Amino acid sequence: MITLCLNTFEIARDMPNFSAWVRKKLLEESDDTPIVIKEEYLFKCKACNLQRVYPTKARRNCSCGWTLTLIPSIQLQLPEGDDQ
Ligand SMILES: [Zn+2]
Repeated sequence: MITLCLNTFEIARDMPNFSAWVRKKLLEESDDTPIVIKEEYLFKCKACNLQRVYPTKARRNCSCGWTLTLIPSIQLQLPEGDDQ
């Protein structure tokens, strides 16, 4: 599971074999260490426009005291075994 913003989703959608490309890139980066893709959630403060990424959907408060709003993002499930 990876999370893309709208811009990267547009790019990914136009790639014929995006998931295979992602796995290849990740393997190039990982250098034999196990691949861990963390889920991340983008939150925004409507009072001061602060943006933060957190690992869970739990409600949080901004440092200004306002409640942060979860910004929905597009998540892609990478299917297994479509490398051909
Ligand atoms: Zn704030």
